[in-house]
Amino acid sequence: MSKKIPTRLYLAEDEMPKNWFNLRACMAQKPDPILHPGTLKPAVAEDLYPVFCKECVKQELDDTTLLIPIPEGLQEFYRAYRPAPLIRAYFLEKALGTPAEIYYKFEGTNTSGSHKLNSAAAQAYYAKEEGLTSLTTETGAGQWGSAMAMACAFFGLDLKVYMVKVSSQQKPYRRALIETYGAHLIPSPSDTTESGRAILAQNPETGGSLGCAISEAIETAVKTDKCRYVLGSVLNHVLLHQSVIGQETKLAMDKYGVKPDIIIGCAGGGSNLGGLIAPFMSDKLAGKSKTRFIAVEPASCPSFTRGRYAYDFGDTAKTTPLLRMYTLGSGYIPSANHAGGLRYHGMNSTLSKLYKDGYLEARSVVQTDVFDAAVRFAKIEGILPAPESSHAIKAAIDEALECKKTGEKKTILFGLTGTGYFDMSAYISYNDKTMSDAVPTDAELAKGFAGIPDIPANK
Ligand SMILES: *Cc1c(COP(=O)(O)O)cnc(C)c1O
Repeated sequence: MSKKIPTRLYLAEDEMPKNWFNLRACMAQKPDPILHPGTLKPAVAEDLYPVFCKECVKQELDDTTLLIPIPEGLQEFYRAYRPAPLIRAYFLEKALGTPAEIYYKFEGTNTSGSHKLNSAAAQAYYAKEEGLTSLTTETGAGQWGSAMAMACAFFGLDLKVYMVKVSSQQKPYRRALIETYGAHLIPSPSDTTESGRAILAQNPETGGSLGCAISEAIETAVKTDKCRYVLGSVLNHVLLHQSVIGQETKLAMDKYGVKPDIIIGCAGGGSNLGGLIAPFMSDKLAGKSKTRFIAVEPASCPSFTRGRYAYDFGDTAKTTPLLRMYTLGSGYIPSANHAGGLRYHGMNSTLSKLYKDGYLEARSVVQTDVFDAAVRFAKIEGILPAPESSHAIKAAIDEALECKKTGEKKTILFGLTGTGYFDMSAYISYNDKTMSDAVPTDAELAKGFAGIPDIPANK
């Protein structure tokens, strides 16, 4: 069979997934349970209800149900911008002169500009169904805040977004977008919460971090009636929602008889990567494929490649339950000149387990190389990629060039998670050649590690 593969591998609307795909159900060795920070015992649903919507808690703790139905009201919302395009990168293959076949799944076609809307819509939908009236969250680069603002506008919920202060200054248009959709934006750390005031007292000049913003958002959710907190990455229910990415990709590839040898995704907290690989990793765990999976992270925030596998907090104020993950310590803040996103200190627990057990590889890349790849890709394929997504582009190009050396005709798939329209200040510093690389020293990382809790499970 040598049917020519079209540039866009189309799926029809009625081929979109009706269920989420729970990768944990396929794992013989499960990720370690979430621990209650006080008792150090596995957390139960009641521990998490004050913070998260009930349905999300249920999904978070479920590591046995393979297929979880996507509610019809949510499928309806997805149909407004999905299925997302799966594109054969013919132009890039030609430009690189590689025998490899390259594909990418593009999640940047919605206005918020990234895959984050997939989970934002799900979390807003469940909050509304539960009878909540408002939500709080944090945002770093701004994609998650934009996605939540869109989702809350659609499903009719109020939203407070704590935005990492440096990002709110660097990205006025992101801020404007979030506010245009009706959300209330607060630069973090702020004086509106106890945790924000504590962080400011210690370090009044701080530009903030995702960890601080999370502490503020959780505090506000817990103290407000009919309000809960939503998180856009790291947690297992977020990966579950993102499994629409992998399921669409697998179905479209199966239709055309394409089997990926290598699947690449950028990794911040792990949600797009976890969602993209879910059904493919299931085949690998069942011994049905030899696909390689590669997580790509910034050298300035190297959770997988230089982090510790330990139980750690999700936030700076150390208020969240403990997650066993690759972590740089919840107090770790990447260098201020890091413009490329993916700045969270930890990594999703399921991906951490897969990495620990050798099913997933990881590599880190410096930001000037990432932007070299981003600009090259934009010129060749036409899409201006988000800096985060460009980590995956960089690795995909490297793998394709490796095939050129060896003459192997591998099939490479990567996740193109979003567009870079709101990241023009980063592109400006790249174009001006003022962008530099910031790789933490071992001593800098040691400071972060010192904040990892000293508990028996970490011995
Ligand atoms: C948030 C974001 C990421 C990283 O988050 P993950 O949870 O690791 O997927 C990657 N790309 C874009 C465009 C993002 O907005």
